[in-house]
Amino acid sequence: MKFFNALVNSRAMHNFITDVKNGNIGHAYMLITPDKDVVEEFFTIMACAVYCPNGICLKCDECKKILDVNNANVKFIRNDAKQSIGVETVKELTEDSVIRPYEKGRKFYFIPNAEKMTIQAQNKLLKTIEEPSEYVTIVLGASSEGMMLNTVISRVKKLYLDYFDAETIASALHELYPTADTEFAVGFANGQLGRANMIANDLDFKTLYDNAFDMLISLKKSADVAKFVRNPYFARDKIGEMLDVIELIMRDIIALDAGCPELAASLTKMKELDTIRETFSIASATAVNDVIGETRERLRVNCDSETLAERLLFKILEVKYLCR
Ligand SMILES: [Zn+2]
Repeated sequence: MKFFNALVNSRAMHNFITDVKNGNIGHAYMLITPDKDVVEEFFTIMACAVYCPNGICLKCDECKKILDVNNANVKFIRNDAKQSIGVETVKELTEDSVIRPYEKGRKFYFIPNAEKMTIQAQNKLLKTIEEPSEYVTIVLGASSEGMMLNTVISRVKKLYLDYFDAETIASALHELYPTADTEFAVGFANGQLGRANMIANDLDFKTLYDNAFDMLISLKKSADVAKFVRNPYFARDKIGEMLDVIELIMRDIIALDAGCPELAASLTKMKELDTIRETFSIASATAVNDVIGETRERLRVNCDSETLAERLLFKILEVKYLCR
């Protein structure tokens, strides 16, 4: 379990646990989140919530059976994320669902990549959702409601996974990597645990992040622009990430200047931020972010990334001295 504490305390999980406690488990749920990496873990915790006699302990025999995928009543319909789930797979599920569960338990069918179901597969599943066996619950995972048939959507209970706050994500990363510097990933996580974990493990992104701070501090004259423009992080495949990082640094400057340090994301870079703030005002940071917006637009219509980087760096240089 990578994100147990965050997931078990999420609003989405709380809604499901309330159904369990009230003896009111539904026949069909849909977990909605763009964060693919946490779906199976969320489903596993749901099954533990139903079977564990101690309230999701992860240690008892029932929890262990679920963690080892060894509870015959709990089934995962897994697929390669790129492959579709066809009608044959759903036919197996529906045929299996009419067989009575083992030891009077409740049968769960978890489909993490439900949006990969073909239209025919969704229609086939719909019949089971419409007339389910009393002891069956089907749980779908989808990145958005738009990916599923309306007829399916209208018959499931929706669990919207929370967008987690910075503090929750930071402590989840800290639990995973107690000794590593992972704070930088929090600001780019978009509230998603899996995305935060991916960024925290991306050493190249970490280097790019450090590079962006160094560049903003040491960019002082026109000759520096020519040097930084050749930075590999301004190449076509990286410039998007570089723009994200500079934009976040500018937002942090605005937050600090406005007296709202709690809104700053670059918690481990406070010293660097203070140095950058000596030459950046709120107005300059805002002006740079405007240029970043324009740069993204121009990248979309295929302008040369080096030319755009040069324009951005000259703008940074200009506002550094104009606005103070
Ligand atoms: Zn347990």
